[in-house]
Amino acid sequence: MTTFPTWDDGTTGTGPDHQVHWYDEGTVIIRQALRTNFEGPFIYLLLGSERALLLDTGTGHIDLRAVVDELLTGRDLELVIAHTHGHGDHVGGDPQFDKVVGKSAEEVAQYFGITAWPEQIVQFDLGDRVLDVIPIPGHHASHLAFYDRSTRLLITGDSLYPGRLYVFDWSAFRASVVRLAEFVAAGNPVDFVLGTHIEMSQESGVDFEFGSSEHPGEHELQLSPAVLVELAEVLTEAGDRPLRIVRDHFIVYPLSATGEPL
Ligand SMILES: [Zn+2]
Ligand SMILES: [Zn+2]
Repeated sequence: MTTFPTWDDGTTGTGPDHQVHWYDEGTVIIRQALRTNFEGPFIYLLLGSERALLLDTGTGHIDLRAVVDELLTGRDLELVIAHTHGHGDHVGGDPQFDKVVGKSAEEVAQYFGITAWPEQIVQFDLGDRVLDVIPIPGHHASHLAFYDRSTRLLITGDSLYPGRLYVFDWSAFRASVVRLAEFVAAGNPVDFVLGTHIEMSQESGVDFEFGSSEHPGEHELQLSPAVLVELAEVLTEAGDRPLRIVRDHFIVYPLSATGEPL
């Protein structure tokens, strides 16, 4: 039986600088505490029989290396460190590690063997655990989603989470989300969609102010696959024109190339 914990929402203002949750015996979800950085990113560690994949290194404000080393103690696994995408709040801890997959779309494509970016979906085997690696640029040029066949988890990074979905390249984002929804519909069942932040409250359509280090009454991390379908639908409906779209579980938030809200 797989469960999710109550995440540290920052309201106590004290406590550990991160939270570790074993979703199952091979899947670890780490949340960097909001008090260490308002982004409070989620970080994923997926264990196979040969390799462990660390997805993201957080903002760099915690000793993630020590956390990961402890989690992997006694396991003879090659550690691969890659990212959902290259924004600073997901790559900030990179210098703590010896070897990290690069942040550009070119480096990501080369590492995972993607020759037709972004349409091609490739497989990455952790050893008895196959992940589908799905390019989804739009929030960031090198953004990837990861589908884990064994747990039926879909890790969507900053492209879909309960919060403000910042869209830097509208047409790329729309195409990516539609492709991702089609991938799921094509026979890849999803139990939960997992992103890398929480910015929504439990109240439908209501988010916490940008930069908040306290999230009283925070939305849960996991989203149902129906929310991915909903996102694809509202983007398709919006068409070519970037549009802010407020829904119960997410807010589509288009930005200009320089980061200004549109
Ligand atoms: Zn981002
Ligand atoms: Zn982020």
